[in-house]
Amino acid sequence: MNLQERAEQVRFRIAEACRRSGRDRDSVEIIAVTKYVSLDTARAVVDLGFDKIGENRWQDVKPKWEALGSRVEWHFIGHLQTNKVKDVVGKFRYIHSLDRLSLAKEINKRGEAMDTVVDCLIQVNISGEESKYGLSPEQFFPFIEQVRSFPFIRVAGLMTMAPYESEPEDTRPVFRGLRQLRDECNQRALLKEEIRHLSMGMSNDFEVAIEEGATWVRLGSILVGKE
Ligand SMILES: *Cc1c(COP(=O)(O)O)cnc(C)c1O
Repeated sequence: MNLQERAEQVRFRIAEACRRSGRDRDSVEIIAVTKYVSLDTARAVVDLGFDKIGENRWQDVKPKWEALGSRVEWHFIGHLQTNKVKDVVGKFRYIHSLDRLSLAKEINKRGEAMDTVVDCLIQVNISGEESKYGLSPEQFFPFIEQVRSFPFIRVAGLMTMAPYESEPEDTRPVFRGLRQLRDECNQRALLKEEIRHLSMGMSNDFEVAIEEGATWVRLGSILVGKE
């Protein structure tokens, strides 16, 4: 299948998952993850109309950002080292991997220096898998209390990665757990603004994530491919 055919198929599967779960099709958007591909392929993805691009390392994305920067919205989805914050803030519209206080401090500092409020998603390791970054669910509410006090951080959403499962259905509790954290945070009105986004679901499990409320699915191999 070529890129266009994969895009059609993915969009069809998203529409079906929305239909099954009674969701509005417009409530789910694709973040096309281009980390496995060249600049040329990334450009082809953008030319096809994908306007949200996810990447996880500044060193690798730099040439793509320089070539395509203004045409799309950039999402930083990888683990973010504190000393890389200066490269990312201002270039990426959203940071999906806020997972510790030291990082929040650095982002807030950078936001203040640039006089811009930085949209972040808090990464939560719902499954508890050791190889994954993110706060534990127990750390989540105490962290919210701390993040509240940073004027240059806006919590736009929550992000999680489910373990790879040969049976995608088995990821459901992970996605449901993230949604419940968001809903509880909003019900208790812990932040000035409601948390809106759930960034969850990748190539192997995006349909389950959509059924559980994903607003952003991050799709690499199934959509963009690997080179
Ligand atoms: C690589 C990556 C993706 C995309 O993975 P696929 O399984 O290829 O869709 C999504 N989210 C994050 C955080 C990633 O690092």
